[in-house]
Amino acid sequence: MTGAAGDYLVRIEQVHKSFGHTPVLNGVDLTVRPGEVTVVLGPSGSGKSTLLRCVNHLEKINAGRIWVDGELIGYRERRGKLYELREREVAAQRRAIGMVFQQFNLFPHMTVLENVMEAPVRLRQGSKSAIRDRAMALLDRVGLADKVDSYPAHISGGQQQRVAIARALAMRPKLMLFDEPTSALDPELVGEVLDVMKGLAQDGMTMIVVTHEIGFAREVGDALIFMDEGRIVEAGPPREVLANPQHERTKSFLAKVL
Ligand code: ADP
Ligand code: MG
Repeated sequence: MTGAAGDYLVRIEQVHKSFGHTPVLNGVDLTVRPGEVTVVLGPSGSGKSTLLRCVNHLEKINAGRIWVDGELIGYRERRGKLYELREREVAAQRRAIGMVFQQFNLFPHMTVLENVMEAPVRLRQGSKSAIRDRAMALLDRVGLADKVDSYPAHISGGQQQRVAIARALAMRPKLMLFDEPTSALDPELVGEVLDVMKGLAQDGMTMIVVTHEIGFAREVGDALIFMDEGRIVEAGPPREVLANPQHERTKSFLAKVL
């Protein structure tokens, strides 16, 4: 383990990312301590999704470093030079990082229970009965014990997103990334998903959450960052940032969403 991670579960240092000639992340620094919830706000196109995707190396960064639990993501560093990890090594790092997207991306031909069991079974992470027991417990935790045999098409969007959360938890992640997990939901279904996320936070999960749900940010977030044009323009305790934003961009954004 590199000492660079210090007390942080996530450490993002001077990350730059461009698509072609278009810069999307312009020197992002961010740290998250174990058990902390960091909420990311910012207008569309400000680089929030790209930042999350860089953390689990779904996007390759052009400069900077990202560590998760002391491991440099995507690279091995030797004598100051970076060497790309092999696909298998990247896959192993990614397994420690759960990700939940706006779209639930469940396997439509599998039941709720099979969706949650799929990755642990594929990766032979235990006996099938042990994996099943654990999947049942996770589904119970997200309030879906009575839906284990349903197919995704037959449950609501909020229930599907809770399955997606249980599926990510089945890999025992050290970190959970949420990219606008409630943005595709009908308003009346948002609360049940936020409640599950709040429960996870209370159980000590380290989370980075991109969301426009200001109430969640205020109530559950330990830190709030505001992104604009690929930079973190404001960061601090959620109540402070929300009550007293310093930057024009933060003020005008909050005026629209509050
Ligand atoms: P946000 O999640 O804050 O809305 P994104 O990270 O999705 O922002 O996008 C930031 C910018 O990067 C946008 O201008 C977007 O068009 C661009 N972008 C994102 N992904 C790609 C990609 N795969 N190829 C080219 N441009 C991209
Ligand atoms: Mg996005």
